[in-house]
Amino acid sequence: MNASSDYQKLRAHLAFLRMTAAAGALPGELDHASKASLTHAAFPERILAVEAGAAGERRRVSPERFASLPSPFTLADFDFSAQPSVDPKLIADLATLRFIEDATSVLLIGPPGVGKTMLAAGLGHAAVTAGMRARYTTAADLAARCHRAALEGRRATTMRSCAGPRLLIIDEVGYLPLPAEAAAALFQVVSQRYLKGSIALTANLGIASWGKVFNDDPMIAAAMPGRLLHRSVVLSIDGDSYRMRSHRARAEATRRAVAST
Ligand code: ADP
Ligand code: MG
Repeated sequence: MNASSDYQKLRAHLAFLRMTAAAGALPGELDHASKASLTHAAFPERILAVEAGAAGERRRVSPERFASLPSPFTLADFDFSAQPSVDPKLIADLATLRFIEDATSVLLIGPPGVGKTMLAAGLGHAAVTAGMRARYTTAADLAARCHRAALEGRRATTMRSCAGPRLLIIDEVGYLPLPAEAAAALFQVVSQRYLKGSIALTANLGIASWGKVFNDDPMIAAAMPGRLLHRSVVLSIDGDSYRMRSHRARAEATRRAVAST
């Protein structure tokens, strides 16, 4: 057995184990080991430390991945001319992220298709770009996650993960009535962030109608609006769905083109 075949075998093992960082560092580390007369333990320790460092780097979830934003759109992509009920000055003010500094919540209320999710995700992008942790979830997802966590005895951990991000986006409240347990989970999330962290929440029902969303639990239906509205900015977006609007614009253009021939 000679040094060169040991070296080849070592490289083959590292390749088989997909330890590419260690494999890359091997020649330099061997060189160093012989020059510095490393102990038998010191050499593998150094080579494994290279690989462990690379694995740690891979595992660290980037802020973008962590945020799980549903669309790539930023606030700059929002077409204000298509949605006169959204005040560009208000959005510009939100884009400064001062609302996150003082734990103000943003409630986006309106019918489907008017850009609620786009704006909420846009705020998320702005926060991530500014180096803040943001996290997107839908009300239904959040409820399901809390339900699973309760079954697995991890409720406290899940609650902490909802408290951590500077901005928590809860999309699509009100699309489905929430069963009592889900309503309780949502209320707990909202309560623990109360005055501590911002929530951007979208809903298709005005807050006056939230009794329908939380009809299994009148106490929560009564308490939730107060928690959310206490320190908040409410954007009521009315008007047409953006897609319907562009669909209608195309149809109108076609109609005119046909009429003129
Ligand atoms: P909502 O969440 O209110 O149902 P979305 O934010 O999902 O609506 O918007 C529906 C689609 O229309 C998305 O693709 C979104 O990017 C687009 N959209 C809505 N409003 C605008 C707008 N004002 N400018 C540009 N795109 C828009
Ligand atoms: Mg939406």
